[in-house]
Amino acid sequence: MEKLTMDKIVAYCKQYGFVYQGSEIYGGLANTWDYGPLGSRLKNNIKDAWRKRFIQENKNSYEIDADILMHPRVWEASGHTTSFSDPLIDCKGCKSRYRADKLIEDNTDEINPDTLTDQEMIDYIREHHYKCPKCGKSDFTDIRQFNLMFETHRGVIKDDMGGLVYLRPETAQGEFVNFLNVQRTMRAKIPFGIGQIGKAFRNEITPGNFTFRTIEFEQMEHQLFCKEGTDSGNYRFYKEYAFEFLKDLGMNTDKLRYKDHEKLAHYAKEACDIEYLFPMGWGELWGTHNRTNYDLSRHQEYSGVSQMYLDPEDNSKYVPYVVESSVGCDRLTLAILCDSYDEEVLEDGSTREVMRFIPALAPYKVAVLPLVKKYHAEFASELKEKLSKYFMCSYDETGSIGKRYRRQDAVGTPFCITIDDETINHGMVTVRDRDTMEQIILPLEEVEQYILDKIKF
Ligand code: ATP
Repeated sequence: MEKLTMDKIVAYCKQYGFVYQGSEIYGGLANTWDYGPLGSRLKNNIKDAWRKRFIQENKNSYEIDADILMHPRVWEASGHTTSFSDPLIDCKGCKSRYRADKLIEDNTDEINPDTLTDQEMIDYIREHHYKCPKCGKSDFTDIRQFNLMFETHRGVIKDDMGGLVYLRPETAQGEFVNFLNVQRTMRAKIPFGIGQIGKAFRNEITPGNFTFRTIEFEQMEHQLFCKEGTDSGNYRFYKEYAFEFLKDLGMNTDKLRYKDHEKLAHYAKEACDIEYLFPMGWGELWGTHNRTNYDLSRHQEYSGVSQMYLDPEDNSKYVPYVVESSVGCDRLTLAILCDSYDEEVLEDGSTREVMRFIPALAPYKVAVLPLVKKYHAEFASELKEKLSKYFMCSYDETGSIGKRYRRQDAVGTPFCITIDDETINHGMVTVRDRDTMEQIILPLEEVEQYILDKIKF
């Protein structure tokens, strides 16, 4: 297959109903995207898989669903109001804006911008005569730190500063402020985890690359609350747990790599990203952080409410450490789309487009296809209705059977069930596998269980 480009994935997503430009009929709102019927199924399947692995199968883990709007003091305690910012520079020629760190990252592997101060970054950009990607001039302003939090106002008078609230830039604070609630109501003993899936908002300086970096996105975050001394072991565990999860989602391990942080955030003891090789290059997909007891200590300080845990094991009292595992759901969905897309050249020289999603992630699990509409459609639509009680089914009665198979291959449907005379006369159906294109004959009554076994995660 030719190298996959982002343009191709964007066009594919639109053509097959995965992702559309946001507010398209109004000319679109830049960097907003709406998931279509197949995209929202795919994304929900990814969320279900995460939920199963990080909550359901994970010892002592609880899911919450916290509000997007939180008390403004939360963001003071977390440090977001003062330091959740990116280094912004403007091109003096065409006024385009850039993130200084990303400009360096996109131009060289020689130096990691995360290890540089603002002054060192701009000096580096000037010394190396970096050009504006838009107009080609090498004349940038000094760096200014730009806060990424979206502000909004509650109450009836907009300029009443008392009404200033933020759209959360991460879901994690919802887990931290509910630490005691969950611990008490669930009678949870440390170590235990709190996770959630939810929207986050960041006024990014350079959003782009489709859904890789947007201003509104969803995160899947899990915080493990543990005792100091067990933190590094848990950190290593979650680093690997995330990697294993990606492997189980069917991702190609050649396109995944760990990247340890060289410069740690002030609260972090250890931090590592898992990067994916997107069509535009390696990009962060998943972060694992040993956040020490920074978060709960800060909330204790700012709220005045003790966040101490009384450990029944040894009667010690302490503010727990936190190991965070955090992934963007949209970024992961994009990675899965890129990773699964294939153009296979067949023996006869023709090419078929195949989305090689693992069955658990595929938007439709089966497509029911009547061989001849006139004779088999009624039976087929009844079967589709019956199977739809268990999983998402598609139904297609138009065009040749070969074309219908291709349409399902292109959206990643792992199984096609063909209804023909054999079904009507002898209760046997043909089940075709998307990847091998092989067909097997099954008794009608076994089909449902056959598919259920294959789509398990
Ligand atoms: P980046 O370096 O790409 O800006 P980050 O280090 O700020 O990301 P985190 O704050 O660790 O990201 O957020 C956790 C995860 O949320 C990231 O690994 C990524 O998958 C996702 N994410 C972060 N920002 C965005 C965004 N603007 N659009 C989509 N997903 C995002």
